[in-house]
Amino acid sequence: MVQQGAFPFASYPIVLGHEVAGVVEETGKGVDKLKPGDRVGLSALFSTCGSCRQCIAGDENLCQQWCWTGVMKDGGYQEFMLARAAYLAPLPESLDFVEAAPVMCAGMTVFSGLRHAGFQTGHKVAVIGLGGLGHFGALYAKAMGGRVAVISTSAEKKAEAQELGAERFIHAQKESVADALRSWEGGADIILATPTSLEPITAAFSGLAPDGTMVVVG
Ligand SMILES: [Zn+2]
Ligand SMILES: [Zn+2]
Repeated sequence: MVQQGAFPFASYPIVLGHEVAGVVEETGKGVDKLKPGDRVGLSALFSTCGSCRQCIAGDENLCQQWCWTGVMKDGGYQEFMLARAAYLAPLPESLDFVEAAPVMCAGMTVFSGLRHAGFQTGHKVAVIGLGGLGHFGALYAKAMGGRVAVISTSAEKKAEAQELGAERFIHAQKESVADALRSWEGGADIILATPTSLEPITAAFSGLAPDGTMVVVG
């Protein structure tokens, strides 16, 4: 999207890469929580102002002064990069960098969506679309004790959905998504919509259980 000029706020030239994992090489003055050798991940959010109402409320992604990694500041497709200590997260030894990197954007996006939707153990989560975000949605919901259905327009995704632990696979072009969801013990507690187009969202909407929540991420 940066290459295609889809972000009017991008700075060019720019080093891409907004899902970053690596090792701290050196720290600047005043950094006391990190030291060289620490394994860290950098979020897609490179920095924010830290003092506006949104930042203080924890909605930093709505800060008027946000700055995105690999879009406005050079990103991770390089051997060394600069990052602000406050935006780095420590990574456990057990998580390798290849697996950790996508957590820093796609993973957080989905986790935050589930959290804001009030996810609880036992919730039925319907995931629309099985791309990068959808994968995380299914994995996280399952790992946190939820039940998962995957909605896709591609029959080939069925095996993948089952591998991720989905108990239902709904083929959006072969059946009514809303009916299929309602027949899932009264509907989905949470629908996690990963495509941002209106059609699949509208088709699934009435498949929500009473007081269910639809989250649109992307
Ligand atoms: Zn701010
Ligand atoms: Zn991303």
